[in-house]
Amino acid sequence: MTTVGILALQGGVREHELVLEGLGVRVVQVRTPSDLVGPDGLRVDGLVLPGGESSTIDRLLRMFGTFDPLRDAIAGGLPTLGTCAGLVLLADEVLDPAPGQQSLRVLDVAVRRNAFGPQVDSAEVDLPTVDGPAKVAFIRAPMVTRQGVAVQVLATHLGGVVAVRQGCVSGLAFHPELTGETLFHRRLLDDIDQRTADATTAA
Ligand code: GLN
Repeated sequence: MTTVGILALQGGVREHELVLEGLGVRVVQVRTPSDLVGPDGLRVDGLVLPGGESSTIDRLLRMFGTFDPLRDAIAGGLPTLGTCAGLVLLADEVLDPAPGQQSLRVLDVAVRRNAFGPQVDSAEVDLPTVDGPAKVAFIRAPMVTRQGVAVQVLATHLGGVVAVRQGCVSGLAFHPELTGETLFHRRLLDDIDQRTADATTAA
């Protein structure tokens, strides 16, 4: 059975769990390196990095010793979906970091935190994406201000890039899980199936 890990150090973990459980996969919470990697390799087939406060999640990742194993797993091809603070964590560059804030640098984008300002502090939006319409929530959302050539733009909102994808790593500035939108989680599960199929073919 497919197992998806949710980084559960801080932020909106439960809503992602509900969406993934609704899609019929096993969900485990990841906090420590051994939650992620066991004696036989990775314990999860894919990952979700939830929203919350990216500087807090970063600090806790380093406190728990999970920062490096997490980065290595994603850089090694583990299908991953980051939402809001999760997108900030994935980014190559954070333009306005909190003091000492680091990011995993596994997605070739620059992001600006809280980029939509107080007027769009929180909003539910019907968002057109390259994969079809999605109902999502923006909460103190970051914006992608630069994306590398290998990065596909999935959606824009108010003139800014808000959803991107590079290989099987996707980053969303918003929260699909708060509105029960399953589009992006289904894409994650497709990526996991594809990776399993590729591994089987290569074996
Ligand atoms: N502004 C937050 C950050 O920079 C993200 C907000 C969210 O995840 N809803 O981490």
